[in-house]
Amino acid sequence: MSQNIYQQLGLKRVINACGKMTILGVSSVASGVMKAVSEAAGAFVEIDKLVDCAGERVSRHTGAEDSYVTSCASAGIAISVAAAITQGEPDRVAQMPDSSGLANEILMLRGHNVDYGAPITSAIRLGGGRVVEVGASNLAARWQLERAVNERTAALLFVKSHHCVQKGMLTIDDFVRVARAHNLPLIVDAAAEEDLRHWVASGADMVIYSGAKAFNAPTSGFITGKKRWIDACKAQHHGIARAMKIGKENMVGLLFALDRYHQTPQGPTEVQLRPVAEAISALRGMQADIEQDDAERAIWRIRVRISQSELGLDARAVEAQLREGDIAIYTRRYFLHEGVFSIDPRTLAEGEMEIIVARLKEIAQHATH
Ligand SMILES: *Cc1c(COP(=O)(O)O)cnc(C)c1O
Repeated sequence: MSQNIYQQLGLKRVINACGKMTILGVSSVASGVMKAVSEAAGAFVEIDKLVDCAGERVSRHTGAEDSYVTSCASAGIAISVAAAITQGEPDRVAQMPDSSGLANEILMLRGHNVDYGAPITSAIRLGGGRVVEVGASNLAARWQLERAVNERTAALLFVKSHHCVQKGMLTIDDFVRVARAHNLPLIVDAAAEEDLRHWVASGADMVIYSGAKAFNAPTSGFITGKKRWIDACKAQHHGIARAMKIGKENMVGLLFALDRYHQTPQGPTEVQLRPVAEAISALRGMQADIEQDDAERAIWRIRVRISQSELGLDARAVEAQLREGDIAIYTRRYFLHEGVFSIDPRTLAEGEMEIIVARLKEIAQHATH
């Protein structure tokens, strides 16, 4: 097999069975999308017009009044926070991220204060926000959110993510009600979500998505929502957003990836994965079944349970061997402490599932027990 571009640079071939991960370069971009990127990179355009055109086209997918394309979702968080604090006023925009003297508190649930490879609080502070946590890490009540609002509050931030605490939290409707009652903008971080319309339809003012995660776009992100707030986001281009600039080519790439997104099947179904799970279960010390995503998305994965007593290796050791082989195989390793890792089929290329099963077989055969 010919070497891929990274192997040509002396790096390992990677099989990604853990999903879209920043540490592995997030997503693989379809060739039709890359063709658009390459054409966009090689020509000139009036950037302001492209920004508006991209906003209009993204909004066709989300149902929002307008949208603003960013370099990534983290930039989207910083920019939407700066939009809330400055309301787009040019003098305030120029002052960011120093928000002294302005209402700058961003209210979020403690159970939503996540780290996705960087703390979400870093992105909030980059936008001039001061983080105010509401509730306990496992439980929050609406009165606590109400009570936290004061004259220094700039916005409410709701995070939808598998990283969040999933139980005992407030709903998006709770956030919409409190935001409306106090006339405050509501920001939703939906970075890895697939549903382009739900969060806008629920009444949020600025909803943030990552382009590279669910939509297989080149590195990009976008904020979609109410025109007044998207205008305030666009105004940040003359402030903090300049340090987070997205090129014309990736802006175009995002548009083509979104057009293509609706036509893309969502990965193998439970039934299609079952024979693979059976093949793994036939190996010594390994038991595989099919699990659904814990954030209840329509994603199925193969969960492999390692029996240390049968295999002589625990799940950590098997996962490490997968990762450290000639081909680096990355699985989802959130539950290694429970003796489990899982295989996400959505990011696998043709033939790669077979390579993983073969490698597991090799590991089982070489395990000394
Ligand atoms: C990945 C992620 C981000 C950041 O997305 P980037 O596009 O990589 O900046 C923000 N919030 C959540 C919840 C994420 O999962």
